[in-house]
Amino acid sequence: MKPRTKIQLKIWGLYQELSPVSKEQKQFAYDKILDHVGFRTKKGIHCLDCGDFWLDTSKLKKATCPHCRQKLKIETTRKKMFNQMKHMVILDVIGDFQIARTIRIESKHKAGFNVDRSAHEIYQHWFSENDKPHIIAGFRNSFFNNDSYSGDLEIRLQDNAHSYHNAPDAVYPKYKVKPIYKKLGFKGNLHWVNPYSFFTKIENNNRAETLLKSNQPELFWAELTRSGRGIHRYWNSIKIAIRNKYKVKDSIMWYDYLDLLSKMGKDLRSPKYVCPKNLKKEHDYYVNKVKIQEKKTADELRIKRMRENQIKYEEMKKAFFGISFASGDLTVKVLETVQEFQEQGEIHRHCVFTNEYFKKKESLIMAAMVNGQPVETVEVSLKNFEIVQSRGLSNKASEYNKDIINLVNKNMKVLKSRVDQVAV
Ligand SMILES: [Zn+2]
Repeated sequence: MKPRTKIQLKIWGLYQELSPVSKEQKQFAYDKILDHVGFRTKKGIHCLDCGDFWLDTSKLKKATCPHCRQKLKIETTRKKMFNQMKHMVILDVIGDFQIARTIRIESKHKAGFNVDRSAHEIYQHWFSENDKPHIIAGFRNSFFNNDSYSGDLEIRLQDNAHSYHNAPDAVYPKYKVKPIYKKLGFKGNLHWVNPYSFFTKIENNNRAETLLKSNQPELFWAELTRSGRGIHRYWNSIKIAIRNKYKVKDSIMWYDYLDLLSKMGKDLRSPKYVCPKNLKKEHDYYVNKVKIQEKKTADELRIKRMRENQIKYEEMKKAFFGISFASGDLTVKVLETVQEFQEQGEIHRHCVFTNEYFKKKESLIMAAMVNGQPVETVEVSLKNFEIVQSRGLSNKASEYNKDIINLVNKNMKVLKSRVDQVAV
């Protein structure tokens, strides 16, 4: 959009004085920010920078291209091509403004061909005291996490300055920053924090300042980009880490690990726990510990509930305990424990336990067996002394269904005679 306000006109005027991204700056990005890769095949190595191929049957993970002299990281792969996208920030000061220029570096690599590289300035943030950051940017198309820029840079809506937030891979080493940022600990690295967050948050965030100055870039990054996730809870542990010169290299895993320690009731101020030599190993150890503890807690809870249910069940149905009917090989008996409900449910794969039939006041549940083998579960209504259902495996009737129903019906008076003793 066209600059309209006084300040926009001023910024737009100063913007005209900025030099375009220089050859040296682009070369730095190509040399130092892009990865330099060689693909190893069975016979040799392709340099993905210059396209050269040479014979090499070693297993080395690094090599120097004999043609372009580039040092390469070697990957053994069947791939023939890959692309890169990186971001470099150029920092400049004009007048009262701290300017952060974000340059997108892209490269396309294909075995046998020279690399195709480009560097484009995609946006600039202009920071001044007492004002929200201003933005000068190309036209942006966003699709989920991907964005692309086209057209010339223009003044854009100030309110959207925060949404230009690509994490920088590097800062161009010849930089200018306002004295305030040097005082706050800036030493030429934004530590993957986008310029918007860096220059708007660092002044008002003492923790970030401390982390930057005490050489904890990973924690600094987490503080500025993930602080909404409750990591401030661990400030005391961070102080222990700093005091013990323990550098956190993977903040996400470290915070995760502190969460686990906290669950296990460990001392989060003890260097023994806070500063593990092998974070991954300790992390995994406590993942397992917490899993075991959670299972134990769940088991205890289950047993406690079972006991409570058993007491209530006995109160309700004790009058029927001991009742069983038999005819030939067939026996039908009243269930006396909640455990038996669970067994019936498991044997016949029906819901007598999961639906908590032991809590139903007006139902009496009995197990039917033939030669001691469970065949069906019977539900009798204590209201009208009728069989509600009798089911075997997977809720279906067994071949003994009729015999069971006859046997229970024949003896229904026994149940009825006990009912007076129960409050239904
Ligand atoms: Zn080469």
